[in-house]
Amino acid sequence: MGDKQKSGRASQDDVGTVDATRPSAWSGGRRSKAKADVKAKLEVEAGAKVKARAGPKAKAKSAARGGLAGTTPKATTPKGPTRKATKPKTVSKMPVSKAPVSKAPAAKAPVVDPAVVEEIFHRFHRVDPEPKGELDYVNAYTLLVAVVLSAQATDVGVNKATRALFAIADTPQKMLDLGEDKVRDHIKTIGLFRAKAKNVIGLSRDLIATFGGEVPMSRAALETLPGVGRKSANVVMNIAFGEPTIAVDTHLFRVANRIPLAPGKTPLEVELGLEAIIPERYRRHAHHWLILHGRYVCKARKPECWRCLIRDLCRFEPKTPAVA
Ligand code: SF4
Repeated sequence: MGDKQKSGRASQDDVGTVDATRPSAWSGGRRSKAKADVKAKLEVEAGAKVKARAGPKAKAKSAARGGLAGTTPKATTPKGPTRKATKPKTVSKMPVSKAPVSKAPAAKAPVVDPAVVEEIFHRFHRVDPEPKGELDYVNAYTLLVAVVLSAQATDVGVNKATRALFAIADTPQKMLDLGEDKVRDHIKTIGLFRAKAKNVIGLSRDLIATFGGEVPMSRAALETLPGVGRKSANVVMNIAFGEPTIAVDTHLFRVANRIPLAPGKTPLEVELGLEAIIPERYRRHAHHWLILHGRYVCKARKPECWRCLIRDLCRFEPKTPAVA
């Protein structure tokens, strides 16, 4: 008999299979089985009675000791991570679910009623339908140079310096022929004039080398020139090419946050916020209206609210009263 057959016979004996050659063994097995069945039944019934009488605590204790028949220790374990995880205290401390819910909708919520925005620009348009910037220029190139020179300087101061400069150099080539030293002399009354003279020569050289001596009609291309950032590029795109860009300078930044129209922590945030809310028909002149309003009425230190044409629409407080 091989190992396989031996193991097969042993298996059959274990489960009490009928063996005609061993009647006593079979009948004895039946009696034992019947006794075992009765005992098991009594245990189950007794267990059921105890279970019915026992409260949750008793059930848990019993389960911890080994459990009643039919119970699962996992479900009734009295102490441990499962019970702790269901405490309300633990749930309330979930920062992951709190943070996005409180921040995301607020960031995109409209700050001003569209009807109010429409009314504000309707009034600006009624009073000044064609607002103009205050820098002097004779063509797109001189506008570009004037804008570069106006950084951290007043338009009035720039105009004084460029009057004579543009009379002799109104193209990139003429500016290069004039040279950096002479350009510096012309603009020495303007702040940062050394760096600005360098930029004027640099941008003139780049215009000739890269753009055929013409001012490019692209904000991205303009921003590649020395001294030209997004704000300057937006001014040129708006004034020289009629694009509805919004150049956010210090006045516009203040006004947009004060009213508020499009509050933001950076000029770009304000620019994009304004683009999103200003009706298309007002977009072209919007930045001029807001800059001029900030420069002459909604001043930095003391806004002249008493003579402001949008004071009833502005939420800034306290408003400056009329001088007695
Ligand atoms: S009411 Fe006063 S704060 Fe408001 S926009 Fe007018 S000037 Fe500025």
